[in-house]
Amino acid sequence: MSASAPSRKRVIQAPRGTFDILPESAARRKVVEGQAEKILGAAGYRRIETPTFEATELFARGVGEATDIVQKEMYTFDDGAGRSLTLRPEGTAPVCRAYLQHGMRKLAQPVKLWYLSTFFRAEAPQRGRYRQFWQVGAEAIGSDRPETDAELIVLLADLLDAVGVRHDRLLLSSLGTPETRAEYREELKDFLRAHEDELAEEVRNRIELNPLRAFDSDDPRTRAVMRDAPKLLDRLTERDAEHFAQVRALLEDAGVRYELDPALVRGLDYYTRTVFEFTSDELGAQSAVGGGGRYDGLIELLDGPPTPAVGWAAGVERMLLSARDLAPPAELVDLFVAMAEPDGSRTAFELAREARRAGLQAQLELAGRSLKGQLKHADRIGARFVAIVGSNGHVSLRDMGSGDQRELTVQDVIPAILRGDG
Ligand code: ATP
Ligand code: MG
Repeated sequence: MSASAPSRKRVIQAPRGTFDILPESAARRKVVEGQAEKILGAAGYRRIETPTFEATELFARGVGEATDIVQKEMYTFDDGAGRSLTLRPEGTAPVCRAYLQHGMRKLAQPVKLWYLSTFFRAEAPQRGRYRQFWQVGAEAIGSDRPETDAELIVLLADLLDAVGVRHDRLLLSSLGTPETRAEYREELKDFLRAHEDELAEEVRNRIELNPLRAFDSDDPRTRAVMRDAPKLLDRLTERDAEHFAQVRALLEDAGVRYELDPALVRGLDYYTRTVFEFTSDELGAQSAVGGGGRYDGLIELLDGPPTPAVGWAAGVERMLLSARDLAPPAELVDLFVAMAEPDGSRTAFELAREARRAGLQAQLELAGRSLKGQLKHADRIGARFVAIVGSNGHVSLRDMGSGDQRELTVQDVIPAILRGDG
């Protein structure tokens, strides 16, 4: 090998759009997980985890062939035996698959489930947008009651609050049924065509493809036109309108502030009735923190019986980006076991193990440092006590807070720490 070879070597990097979760970040994520468990658990939601990959057909049907996710964002591969598999891009279709596969409709309804898992989408990576990312999600399957929609929204609001997501807004709408939506889309297109000369060019070009986007335009003339545009919310059937009114009343009673957003479209074809999205101003372009809605048609699309359901998913990385002040609790070290002499090694090893069995956080010297080096290290990791193991089972126990040090036999060390008197 030539002398210059090492300088050309570059360590292997994690694939583009992926990231390592290093210990500091793992501790912050644990806070999110703990809060989700507490908040969702208190409402009777139970944890579910589905496989990392599924039959491609599940997403093609359950997310929708026409969606961006299925069209452009899936990691799909052949399993070597002629079956097409896909790394899960979202959690709702897999949870519904599991609901059907395990006969959960025989359980008391709704079945309330939550998950915290990795998902995969082939997207252009940027801040808050990755190719492998985490979502916490919740689904309530088997209820069409507006209380279910409102409860789920309140639970996500509480979770975002508990984690400290900043300046979040809740956008809310109702999509009615797919039929209502299709009719409305035609009506909106007619309206836009009738006002074509007054619309911004980009809006005009997208009348056929995405007429709803006209509501998001910044162009002043377009905005003026859109003030008189027909609204989907005014076209809901009486039953859908009543359902939505009840969801809104429950949110208002709960003090949850929301904004009606007539252009709120969620990425999936099968959404019905309530849809919502929480955004955070902290996030810039990727402002969506989490969202969801009712998907009364999905289980049937997966060959199940008609089953109303509602759920949401929130991006963990975006929650953490927005919750800048979220600090994990300090890590405690009750005891560091140091060795005065190399021949104390077996006693020290056993003492550390017994301490852990007694419920203490105990670390053992593992780097062959000098005694001075060991004490410095114990201080650096914030150990409350250091047990310096000498020969013949004698131990000096030092209280790192007060600096007091006393001599004990090895059997007395753990009881002394548990009593807190060192
Ligand atoms: P966006 O409009 O930002 O693409 P989306 O509508 O595709 O979001 P959903 O499918 O509703 O997102 O997923 C729920 C949440 O998951 C999002 O609000 C976001 O916080 C997070 N999320 C979605 N895609 C990614 C990604 N590629 N990387 C990181 N988080 C993501
Ligand atoms: Mg997306």
